[in-house]
Amino acid sequence: MIVIGGGLAGLAAGVALAESGWRVRLFEQRPFLGGRATSYVLPDGEHVDNCQHVTLGCCTNLEDFYRRIGAAGKIKFFDRLLFLDPQGRRGKMQAGFLPAPFHLTGSFAAFAPLSLLDKLSIARAMLDILQTQGNPADLQEKGGISMLEWLRRRGQTKRAIERFWRVVLVSALDEELDRTDARFGVDVFWKVFLSNSTGYRMGVPAVPLANLYDGCKSEIERRGGEVVLRAPVRGLKMESGELAGIRLDEGREETADAYVFAVPHAVLAELLPQSMKQSDPALSNLEKIKVAPITGVHFWFDRPVMKEPFVTLLDTTTQWIFNKTALYGDSNGQANTALTGQYLQLVISASYDLLQKPRQEIIDLCLEEVRKALPAARNAELVKATVIKEAAATFSPEPGVDRWRPKQQTSIPRLFLAGDWTDTGWPATMEGAVRSGYLAAEALLGSDGSPLKFLQPDLPPDGFIAMWLGRSGTATNS
Ligand SMILES: Cc1cc2nc3c(=O)[nH]c(=O)nc-3n(C[C@H](O)[C@H](O)[C@H](O)COP(=O)(O)OP(=O)(O)OC[C@H]3O[C@@H](n4cnc5c(N)ncnc54)[C@H](O)[C@@H]3O)c2cc1C
Repeated sequence: MIVIGGGLAGLAAGVALAESGWRVRLFEQRPFLGGRATSYVLPDGEHVDNCQHVTLGCCTNLEDFYRRIGAAGKIKFFDRLLFLDPQGRRGKMQAGFLPAPFHLTGSFAAFAPLSLLDKLSIARAMLDILQTQGNPADLQEKGGISMLEWLRRRGQTKRAIERFWRVVLVSALDEELDRTDARFGVDVFWKVFLSNSTGYRMGVPAVPLANLYDGCKSEIERRGGEVVLRAPVRGLKMESGELAGIRLDEGREETADAYVFAVPHAVLAELLPQSMKQSDPALSNLEKIKVAPITGVHFWFDRPVMKEPFVTLLDTTTQWIFNKTALYGDSNGQANTALTGQYLQLVISASYDLLQKPRQEIIDLCLEEVRKALPAARNAELVKATVIKEAAATFSPEPGVDRWRPKQQTSIPRLFLAGDWTDTGWPATMEGAVRSGYLAAEALLGSDGSPLKFLQPDLPPDGFIAMWLGRSGTATNS
């Protein structure tokens, strides 16, 4: 069988199918694996992620995938999230001794950047999420409602929206609240903060992203398959109206029993012949899925300017600062510039305003914010900087987007789909991509008459939630 695309979706499908005894041939157009969640080497030899990627405790399929490919040990988990406002007030989120859903109550009560009124309004909305187990009635409204509308209906204060809901959700979903389907927003709070006391723990790779995928190639090759890099698929070969192969460069064609297309939706829309889009309505709406940008800014200072592994900034363009030097530690010398210096990576999600801005302007803006937030940076010299704009970082989780997302199994014989944009129930995340790959593998095996399960259950509700639901330890699947 053939997988097209070596991002997380294609890799998850490929590894799962190879483990099930299939000979997998994976074609990736770039010279490295990982797709959007990868890293590469700059001309000066520096390894950079195309952008910092993080996972969360609730991402059970990504965790399973990292385990399968021997990369689980390369992820460091943190149970304290630190927030900093321009007035220098700090807030943190860290589980205390209380069970879910009250595990974060202590740090929330002491959260200095929010007032008591803000906190009471947030608590009211949280109660609604809790009472409906993450499924408030207005989420079912036809066409969906925006997260901003959902929050307004619950009387959220301006500061609660700006300093709490927006901060969490723009980072998690890569979209502004007025363009986010409330279904995704509410689900984040249910899965990450309420239903299980470990769902919010943040996992950060301790190596450049591309290093995570070493095990994929060997896993596929060990089982008789191959991973072909620098192999862009240019088109589909059709015979008597049926999918009969793929076309690569220099007239090369490859055929297989089944094909998993794990490319971005815009690429698939171009590859698919019109006849296929017409015969399967689920394939005719791919162009309706919009995209949202993320900008990563990389700073190398001549000295240490930050002690924390990462921090979230409030009320600034810069949303996160990651201390890459600390995160890589000794485990990976190759990404550290100089032992005495420090490498920081800044993340700005839904960065529409930055897309047209010149790079130097973005560097100046972010440097000013970093120097305000981190006093030690004020006297430090910025040795070098780079900006990476990803205009199509994720699909936009706009209200009603789910109706355009096709299932992994299509009505076209032998054609399966994977990708964070397919119908997984999840937003565009590494977890969503791995889920789609597992679902594509399950669909392929099911249609071959040898069904197997790869999809992992969600984190089970714990603490009072488990008692309240009366099903402690019962896994739920979305
Ligand atoms: C800047 C940025 C920051 C992000 N941060 C996070 C984060 O912190 N946490 C998180 O969970 N998610 C994050 N994401 C989202 C996450 O990266 C994606 O959801 C996930 O990697 C998508 O995987 P995929 O396999 O579906 O698609 P892709 O990674 O896009 O993989 C598709 C692959 O297909 C290949 N391809 C395309 N066309 C062809 C062709 N014609 N022939 C052969 N190969 C082809 C591409 O080169 C690519 O390797 C971020 C994304 C970006 C861009």
